[in-house]
Amino acid sequence: MKTPRLSSRRTFLGHLSLGAAGLTLTSRSRAQGSPRPLGVALVGLGGYATGQLGPALKLTQHCRLTGVVTGSREKGLKWAQEFGFPEKNIYNYGNMARLADNPDIDIVYVVTPNSLHPEHVIAAAWARKHVISEKPMANSVADCDAMLTACRLAGVKLSVGYRLQFEPHYLELKRLARDGDFGVLKKMSGALAFPIRRRVWRVEKKMAGGGPLMDIGIYCVQAACMAALPPGAGQWSGASTVAITAREHPKTRPEFFLDVEEGIDWTMEFPNGAKAEFMTSYNQGADRFRAEGDKGWIEFTPAFPYGGLKVTTSRGPFTPPVPRSQQAVQMDDFALSIRENRPSPVPGEMGRRDMVILEAIYASAARGGRRIEIKV
Ligand code: NDP
Repeated sequence: MKTPRLSSRRTFLGHLSLGAAGLTLTSRSRAQGSPRPLGVALVGLGGYATGQLGPALKLTQHCRLTGVVTGSREKGLKWAQEFGFPEKNIYNYGNMARLADNPDIDIVYVVTPNSLHPEHVIAAAWARKHVISEKPMANSVADCDAMLTACRLAGVKLSVGYRLQFEPHYLELKRLARDGDFGVLKKMSGALAFPIRRRVWRVEKKMAGGGPLMDIGIYCVQAACMAALPPGAGQWSGASTVAITAREHPKTRPEFFLDVEEGIDWTMEFPNGAKAEFMTSYNQGADRFRAEGDKGWIEFTPAFPYGGLKVTTSRGPFTPPVPRSQQAVQMDDFALSIRENRPSPVPGEMGRRDMVILEAIYASAARGGRRIEIKV
């Protein structure tokens, strides 16, 4: 599969003008104040799309599934029947450019293996569709930059599938950080780990960009950045200086974890003095996060699942009203950010920031745990 690179800016702009018909149609229906939910096309009908995003798209209020991009025509037909969209809205990875001509589709949600996110996000931008990329946004900061540039030039929004940014317990964490109820949340710790026994793309560097850090350690990075929000910050603070130190776990199964880490420990330092210590692994089980300030603490166990989070604070348990599907809330918010023409609280820049941090973690581990200062 050929990756549409941004080297050919002229070709890219040519695609933009070709895609203008679709955009005009979409804009017209919006200008008339049509309440129609925005159309979403899922790219990659694997485990997460099937188990979570598809079901969530039956619960969304502001968007609905109107198409798919898949390597399997058979899967596409099954999804078309289940979700009631026409067969013409089934695409494959080779004809995504044709999305430009389809006014049923406003948002393309990329749910393929990590290494394919840039290719599919950029193809969606070329077709002038707003895009959500699953996490991690890409395998390198350079690829994140290419994706951001493509979306900026196309005038479309780019978000990342960070479902926990909308989860009520994490909204409370962000509020605590910003309002300072417990003081600065200076001491953080956590872990996310599960054992992998079967050889899947997640343990191939070419496809996944790394091991558990790329796949699940990223949730710890997200939690720490939420807890380190400065007072009065918006939903996310774009820039903060952090320093990283990291050490890879010795491999117990080197024949299985050929070119990715089996596990890794790392420390993040924030400008407000906060320090976070984390662990991720594909060889054990863990799911927790804790943040502590001078005046109190908050603890998540489990911290990162699709539902059933348990949160206790020094004031007692924190139990919000029964939350909606995390993914439904996430996709509805993105649809509303488009309709209301406001920034998404989870912009592509946040995905890039996290990639800067992940690259620094790998760089520190490769240098035997040297402290690396980064600006993000
Ligand atoms: P799966 O392996 O289950 O599915 C990936 C799908 O991508 C495949 O089924 C296939 O769909 C498509 N695909 C296209 N090219 C390839 C290829 N070369 N190799 C393998 N699959 C290919 O992965 P997941 O659904 O678990 O993960 C997909 C993405 O979602 C990842 O980036 C992951 O990090 C993210 N994710 C996010 C979660 C979250 O909580 N936010 C949770 C789980 C995953 P088809 O047959 O239709 O072509």
